[in-house]
Amino acid sequence: MNGLKLCNFRRDILLLSRLTVLDLSNNEIEKIPHEFGRMTNLCELILSNNNLGVPNISDWRWLLGLQIIRTLKLLDLSGNKLKGLPNDIWKLRNLVTLKLYNNELERIPASLGRLKNLRYLTLSQNILKSLPCSLMQCRFELLDISMNKFENRETLMKPKLSSQWDFCIGSLLHIAAKVVLKYNIYYAPNIIPRTLTETLDNANLCVCGRPVLNNIFIIKQFDCRDCFRSATITNDNVNHALDFECYFCSSKCLMKYN
Ligand SMILES: [Zn+2]
Repeated sequence: MNGLKLCNFRRDILLLSRLTVLDLSNNEIEKIPHEFGRMTNLCELILSNNNLGVPNISDWRWLLGLQIIRTLKLLDLSGNKLKGLPNDIWKLRNLVTLKLYNNELERIPASLGRLKNLRYLTLSQNILKSLPCSLMQCRFELLDISMNKFENRETLMKPKLSSQWDFCIGSLLHIAAKVVLKYNIYYAPNIIPRTLTETLDNANLCVCGRPVLNNIFIIKQFDCRDCFRSATITNDNVNHALDFECYFCSSKCLMKYN
């Protein structure tokens, strides 16, 4: 259904329960209905060159449906004027390929590093200034970060010094949540309190890969060739040094990487 100038999502698609690949690229679609998340067999979804980023508040409920988060392996959202992504995108746990090039992304959620199966990520032609350190945990085969606005903020603005209390000491809720994440214990809103679910869903990752339950980060520079050793990196930054948003799980990590 490529290039049909569709402005709206065709709801009869929802009846195609055995559909595995759907190409809706080069249309003018602004909204996907949340029922779309119930597609039971969809593996590849190509939505490039539409207008999903045009509404002021994008509605991403379709992307987090209980069915689609299990089956989706390829998602192409390139060329959609997107200014942001949902923090919950990490729930697409089987995602291997994510195409986000040619959007207006200034940052990407740190939770993206929780996608353990992600191998191909294209972020070129955005306005990214830094990357979350959680991406260092991904075993990329291809990472395209060319044509962004990486301008080495570490040297431009020295972060104010914060104590390890700010970074590493959490509440009892945070300590409980860290244990759940560390041992990969299954959780859902119907079995634990909603506040705990929200805390768990919003977890970031430390430079070492352990979970962090706060949003405090500092900008640190790393050589992207060291961070993504297994990947083919497409990057137009000549010295390969990139700014990373770094979160810290403990005072030990704060001392080690800061
Ligand atoms: Zn750590």
